[in-house]
Amino acid sequence: MTYLANDQRYARDIYNRSGNSGLLLPQVSLGLWHNFGHVDDFATGRETILTAFDNGIIHFDLANNYGPPPGSAEENFGKILRRDLRPYRDELIISTKAGYRMWDGPYGEWGSRKYLLASLDQSLRRMGLEYVDIFYSHRFDPDTPLEETMTALADAVRTGKALYVGISNYDADTTRRAAEILDSLGVPCVIHQARYSMLDRWVEKGLLDTLEEKGIGCIAFSPLAQGLLTNKYLKEIPPDSRAASPYGFLQRSAITPRLVDNLRKLDALARERGQSLAQMALAWVLKDPRVTSVLVGARNKDQLLDSFRCIENTDFSTEELELIDRILAGN
Ligand code: NDP
Repeated sequence: MTYLANDQRYARDIYNRSGNSGLLLPQVSLGLWHNFGHVDDFATGRETILTAFDNGIIHFDLANNYGPPPGSAEENFGKILRRDLRPYRDELIISTKAGYRMWDGPYGEWGSRKYLLASLDQSLRRMGLEYVDIFYSHRFDPDTPLEETMTALADAVRTGKALYVGISNYDADTTRRAAEILDSLGVPCVIHQARYSMLDRWVEKGLLDTLEEKGIGCIAFSPLAQGLLTNKYLKEIPPDSRAASPYGFLQRSAITPRLVDNLRKLDALARERGQSLAQMALAWVLKDPRVTSVLVGARNKDQLLDSFRCIENTDFSTEELELIDRILAGN
């Protein structure tokens, strides 16, 4: 059946500006790292993506290697673009990245000009796109001059294959250097994609300050710590969970009795706030004005809609924030 987007999708203003740029992102964005590969159910993935768009979630985040197999998330997303979303291309913010291993040989990963630009061409072919909205260096390459990596990003913009560029997983000092190089090339770094959740707060130790100072936005990935910060692991490890899946990186061993105890306490606080644990965990990341968007994963549309409701309450009292810190510290 022909897809017709919900004409109320922009009824709510849910968009934040990424740093000082013209890039506006929904407070909740959808990532395609898991659940959208050839091993997954295409119809479920399509429904999740179209539900997102129907709710004004216009940003879809990919990378060359998302799947499995690597590349298949981009292929599936390309199929959905061709079938359903093509008329809405100018409304969409589609990102991809290169940095992790994608093909054999010395040019199949990291940050060389050859790898980044070849990978971007491959991503465009897989998705059937002329350009992506954001192209990221997925990780810092300690063996390639940063100037080379940043010049490749700037050239992706100059050749019209990307509109904006960003970096991901770079530490604060390298972020500063990267931003300065990109400024000197006339192509600003507009966004940093960094892991950030209640369970992983490394960005608070300098990166967020650097981003604010440089006028760069932050999109937080794995804000639910891959699903740990939801109510699904409070009693057991359900069979339809990432921790039980043969694919991916979340190990059963991550779910320790101490973590579950903390999660139960956080869940009780979330319920007092009238939220699910997932909603509170996402709201907690979004409470920081330096965070432009939380980049969630979802195995189906129900999870996405549940998570999306986090935007209804992103205010925390000082007492609540202190309680969260005490719970996480195990006190
Ligand atoms: P999350 O922390 O949001 O975890 C998503 C998982 O949490 C889902 O697959 C699901 O797990 C569970 N979940 C989501 N919503 C709910 C809910 N409402 N109730 C219960 N469970 C829920 O994010 P991801 O780790 O998936 O990362 C998000 C995106 O960030 C990726 O798709 C990718 O785009 C990006 N990313 C970027 C990286 C980088 O290096 N730049 C690295 C990693 C991710 P389950 O399957 O168990 O149901």
